[in-house]
Amino acid sequence: MPTGRADHNLIKRLNSALILNNLLSVSPQSRANLAERTGLNRSTVSSLVSDLIDQALVREVGLAGASERGRPGMMLELNPTGGCIVGVEINVGYATVLVTDFTARTLWRQHIEVDEDIPQDEFLALVEDLIAAGLQAGTANGLKPLGIGLGLPGLIDTENKRLVFAPNLGWRDVSFCDRWEQRFRVPLYVENDGNASALGEYYFGVAKGHEDFLFIATGTGLSAGMMLNNHLYRGAGGYAGEIGHIIVESGGDLCNCGRRGCWETLVSPPAIMRGILHALNSGAPSIIPDLVGDNLDRLNMRVVVEAADQGDQLALDTLLDTALNLGVGIANLVNIFNPAMIVLGGTLISAGDYLLPTISNIITAEALSAPAGMVALALSSQGTDSCVKGAVALVIDGIVREPVFT
Ligand SMILES: [Zn+2]
Repeated sequence: MPTGRADHNLIKRLNSALILNNLLSVSPQSRANLAERTGLNRSTVSSLVSDLIDQALVREVGLAGASERGRPGMMLELNPTGGCIVGVEINVGYATVLVTDFTARTLWRQHIEVDEDIPQDEFLALVEDLIAAGLQAGTANGLKPLGIGLGLPGLIDTENKRLVFAPNLGWRDVSFCDRWEQRFRVPLYVENDGNASALGEYYFGVAKGHEDFLFIATGTGLSAGMMLNNHLYRGAGGYAGEIGHIIVESGGDLCNCGRRGCWETLVSPPAIMRGILHALNSGAPSIIPDLVGDNLDRLNMRVVVEAADQGDQLALDTLLDTALNLGVGIANLVNIFNPAMIVLGGTLISAGDYLLPTISNIITAEALSAPAGMVALALSSQGTDSCVKGAVALVIDGIVREPVFT
C-alpha cells in the first residue's frame, strides 16, 4: 500500500504535470489563469509554480497586459534554460542528432548519411560520437542535460528501451538502455518513428491541441502513431500501429513481413516505384526516363512529383492509384478511431498536393458520415525532421507528464 507521503508526492507530480502541460500549449499565462484552466486552487498553483521555478523549468516573464481581468498578474512560461534535450533519429542510410533547449528551440544539429549496409556497431559508434558532441554543445551553453530521445523504425520495447526488430535496418535485439544510459548517464526514451513523429506533431506541429489524431508515417513501409485521449496508444506490448500490415488483398503481393497483400505493398514509396518500373518495362509512355537521364536507379518520389507537375500521365495515374488505396485504408481507420485529424508524414508528403484531395473525397464517400464529417486531413508540419523533433518531444513528454522533484 502506498504511504501518505507517496500519495502526496504522486499528486504533486500529477498537478505539476498539469501546469507544465498547460504552459506548453498556452504561454505565457498568469497563476490565476492556470488555476482556472487546471481546476486547481490558487494556493496550490502558487506553491507548485514556486517549486517549478526553483527547478528552473518555469520562469516569470513580466506583468500581464490590459487584456487580463482584475489585478495584473506575473506571467509565466516554460523556461528555455531549464535544460537541454538531445533528439536522435536512426534510419535506413542516415542519422540525425538534434540538441534543443527545454522549449524545443534548436541549438545544434548534425545529420550523417551512411551506406545502407553499414555494420550495426559501426553505425551506432558514429551516432554515439554525435550524441557526445551534442551533449557537449548543450552543456557548453550552461544547460543541464534533461534526457535523450531516440526514434527508429521497428518494433520497440519502450519499457526496457530495447529495439526488438527493425526489418529495414536488419537489426534485432539492441538494448539502448545498456548502451546509452550507462555511457551518457541521462534519462533515455525510445520509441518507433511513427509514435515519436505523432508526439512531435502533438507538441509542436499541426496536431497541437488535438486529443485524438493519427500520424501516418510513410517511408520504406507504413506505420501509424496513434494519439488517443492525449496519450500515445502503444498496445499491450508496444507494437500497436503497424497499419502497413493490414491485409487488404488476399493473396496479393509479397510484403517484407513475409505475408501477402499487406496495405503497404500498395501504397508505400517502394511500391510506387515498383509500379512505375513495371509500367515502363511494359512500354508505357512517360517522361520519367528523360528526367532521370535514363538511369532508373535515380527514380524517387521527387522525380515522380516532378513528372506529375509536367502532366506526365503515368505519374498522375500512379499518384491517383496511391491516393485511392491510401484513402480506402484511411477511411477504415476513421471508422475505427474517430480521430479529429489524420496527419500524413514521411516520404509521401512531397506528393501531398496530388494525394490529399483524393484521400479526402474517399473518406467522405467511404467512411461513416458522422466520423468522416469530423476529421481534418493535414500534412506533417515538420517535414523530414518529424521523427527527430518527435524524439525531442519524447523527453519533454516524459518530463511534463511526470516531473520529478529533487
Ligand atoms: Zn506486411
